[in-house]
Amino acid sequence: MKSLQELTRPNIWNLKPYSSARDEYQGVEATVFLDANENPYNTPHNRYPDPMQWELKKQLANIKKVSPKHIFLGNGSDEAIDLVFRAFCEPGKDNVVAIDPTYGMYEVCAEVNDIAYRKVLLDEHFQFSADKLLAAADERTKLIFLCSPNNPTGNDLLHSEIEKLLRTFEGLVIVDEAYNDFSEAPSFLSQLESFPNLIVLQTFSKAWGCAAIRLGMAFASIEIISILSKIKYPYNVNQLTQQQAMEMLRKYYEIERWVKTIKEERGYLEAEFAKLPCAVSLFPSNANFFLVRVTDAVKIYNYLVGEGIIVRNRHKIALCGNCLRVTVGTRAENDMLLNALRRYGR
Ligand code: PMP
Repeated sequence: MKSLQELTRPNIWNLKPYSSARDEYQGVEATVFLDANENPYNTPHNRYPDPMQWELKKQLANIKKVSPKHIFLGNGSDEAIDLVFRAFCEPGKDNVVAIDPTYGMYEVCAEVNDIAYRKVLLDEHFQFSADKLLAAADERTKLIFLCSPNNPTGNDLLHSEIEKLLRTFEGLVIVDEAYNDFSEAPSFLSQLESFPNLIVLQTFSKAWGCAAIRLGMAFASIEIISILSKIKYPYNVNQLTQQQAMEMLRKYYEIERWVKTIKEERGYLEAEFAKLPCAVSLFPSNANFFLVRVTDAVKIYNYLVGEGIIVRNRHKIALCGNCLRVTVGTRAENDMLLNALRRYGR
């Protein structure tokens, strides 16, 4: 791996971050807070939240089995995705490499930040080869994006290829594990010590059932986390979100139950889809959604909209011709979808 200084934009490396009132004073002894131009009324919403979210990070650290200093929290993992571009990629000069197809925000963030985005097509099993990604990289490649289980294909990427990339690539490797809770594959979180160029992304939006509170996690070396923390908005995770997340962490057993049910429902949906005349092929999934090739994706998508059922049309995405991406819902929702598709074309 190159040194972190070589990988970081010089202006960011040298940046002196904004220091908020809450950064400058932290302590429990004080009772009078006249430092942050807050309104003294309307407790508890009148006070700025902890900019570094330490209490939440401490509780999360217990569950994730990493030190709080290895955790960055953001406004969804989308914030962390944007920040890695802003921290490491020089606009108009640097580039990143990513598998294709994958989650669309990597490319959007690359464009917003004026960074060339090099796509490397997956094979027919939606797998990638570390060598192919490395061949697409050059001296100015700062980041490689992987997503496992991948969106929209639903499959786990090969662990051995990810490790090979981590061992060989000189820049940073982002492994987006938004859907890892639904997979049997081990998380790369336990490998943070072995790979200083690894950034693992996870989110409260999927298994944790908290898409509305906007809370994403990035796990990486203390040095990488310090850089991301230095350039984030001072109060990027609001107080209500921090409280709700801590509430969720207290009932993590509920999440385990949800995940189990969603995986069972995925199995049910896949079995029933296999019997549908309009389903041409199903792709095995390790996520809370699956990709299905149908006879005519555009027609079926529009038909379902007419029935009040929305799935994701992925027809125009690389390797996904005539494919729909279906999120696993409740049994009642899944049956409504199945019944509508059974009626289709009759
Ligand atoms: N990564 C992947 C692979 C996703 O599919 C999504 C959301 N669909 C995200 C990240 C963003 O999640 P968040 O809600 O945490 O911003």
